[in-house]
Amino acid sequence: MLPLTKVTILVPLYNEVAVLPKLFDRLIQLSNNINIPVHYLLIDDGSIDETASNISNYIIDKPNWSALFLSRNFGHSIAITAGLAAIEKDTSAVFIIDGDLQDPPELLPTFIHTMQQGNDVVYGVRKKRKESTFKKICYRVYYRLLKKFSNTQMPLDAGDFCLISNRVVRQLNSMPEESRYLRGMRSWVGFKQQGIKYERAARLSGKSKYSFTNLFKLAFNGLFNFSELPIRIIGIVGMLAIIPSFIYLFITLYKKLVFGTVPEGFTALIFAIVLFSGVQLLSLGIIGEYVLRIFFQVKQRPLFIVKSKIIKGQLIDE
Ligand code: UDP
Ligand code: MG
Repeated sequence: MLPLTKVTILVPLYNEVAVLPKLFDRLIQLSNNINIPVHYLLIDDGSIDETASNISNYIIDKPNWSALFLSRNFGHSIAITAGLAAIEKDTSAVFIIDGDLQDPPELLPTFIHTMQQGNDVVYGVRKKRKESTFKKICYRVYYRLLKKFSNTQMPLDAGDFCLISNRVVRQLNSMPEESRYLRGMRSWVGFKQQGIKYERAARLSGKSKYSFTNLFKLAFNGLFNFSELPIRIIGIVGMLAIIPSFIYLFITLYKKLVFGTVPEGFTALIFAIVLFSGVQLLSLGIIGEYVLRIFFQVKQRPLFIVKSKIIKGQLIDE
């Protein structure tokens, strides 16, 4: 791996006007604490508050600050993807961090140190979360399920907070998938990876931009993009259903041939119809998830649209 000569700090932002001043302060502090040149790249993900104008006002004429303004809200993962696509060639590593300061920027020196020990990916592992008990339980269960069933070895409780080397960035940029589960893609890339434990703070201000629907979407992306299990389950359930139905068939045949009685079986029949209609609908739904992914992928739409950008303090309209 090449020596670290420049680190770009990539921050996706959506309606974060309340956090911006504090964020700028803490990001600026960073460059004082490390002896490697730092570049900042802010992604405004189609905010509808003053985030975009505040970013522009703050970074214009600041040569080590850049920003991309997306044409609408594309979502957290795509905002990061847009940023990664705009990384300059001379960047040795990219530090991806949320704008709401839930992940402490001050960990950058530790991350850099770990990368210098030969790791291409250094990611944060959440030791403690300051969220509602229900959300915490969901996260815990989900990550453990995913680890068990995914084909890619994915670390537990690791989010998108990370420092990745230039060559990992290039690999991520070369992956065209439409539904992007970045933390999974990052694991898939390989190379030497190291987790660092940290306490995830509560959001500094404002509300989480992830609704439950969005969280489910993200969770589904992880499960369906990195695991064949859902589709395999259909086959397994089918097999399991065949065994008892054969047993039942033999029992009925035996009764008919030996005792000549007509099978009562009405309840069993209804039960079987209801159960297997459900199983079939569920199976269709699971296949549908994969078909949907193929559908979106073959459309080959660009993943994001940049409306304008400020590169090294200079405004450029797209
Ligand atoms: N974000 C974004 N686009 C979105 C939603 C969120 O760029 O559509 C940004 C947001 O401004 C924040 C980061 O992504 O900097 C993480 O979002 P959030 O804090 O809402 O997610 P949570 O921490 O609750 O999972
Ligand atoms: Mg957050």
